[in-house]
Amino acid sequence: MKPLRRKWAQVSLVLHYLGWVLFVVVCQIFGNVLERDFNIPTFGVGMFGVGLMLMGPVLWRLTARCPHCGKRGGPLSWVYKKSYCSRCGHILPFDDGPLNEEETPLDQRARLGLKRGWAWLVLALTAAGTACILAAWRIMDFAVRSPADLEEKWARQDVGLPLLLAGVLLLLAMAFAADFRLVCPHCRKGHLPPWQPRGKARWCWHCGAALAFGDELEME
Ligand SMILES: [Zn+2]
Ligand SMILES: [Zn+2]
Repeated sequence: MKPLRRKWAQVSLVLHYLGWVLFVVVCQIFGNVLERDFNIPTFGVGMFGVGLMLMGPVLWRLTARCPHCGKRGGPLSWVYKKSYCSRCGHILPFDDGPLNEEETPLDQRARLGLKRGWAWLVLALTAAGTACILAAWRIMDFAVRSPADLEEKWARQDVGLPLLLAGVLLLLAMAFAADFRLVCPHCRKGHLPPWQPRGKARWCWHCGAALAFGDELEME
């Protein structure tokens, strides 16, 4: 049985957070200095940061496979933490952890049903919040060439800013609902994605319980 390699988890995490640092610090805080004094285009650096951010999880998907069922990716952590495969429910073996850890047999684990309505709410809030932010961005994105343009710009901001705020609040409400209602009721760590098909179970990565929408659980 081939264990997952901690080294790749660490490389993926470093890439991901380096991307964040590049994007936030370089672009948002020192952007002007970079462009003015060093003639480095901040847009390029920012996009490079976003690329690194995405590359971390992609690298992890390429390098990590559950030895029991072949599912790619899984929980990412810097040091060993007992975690379960969300597809087959077995403990994921890592090269820096115990290779054959005792686990509760799958048919003796807790089976927990979550309410489907919360999944719809989370999806609806995501759609509404994203639509508000995109609309605000479209409205406020206005080139200023003359004083009349500037006046129009302010007029547009009167609409755009509240719309932007509404979008951010909707997304915050979404995160809040997902964190409280789409979470494993047993350990409150593992989540059930809102697009999980009805009745199909997914195993909590943290406690190994079976999670699904509805009460009738059907095991893969
Ligand atoms: Zn598996
Ligand atoms: Zn759990």
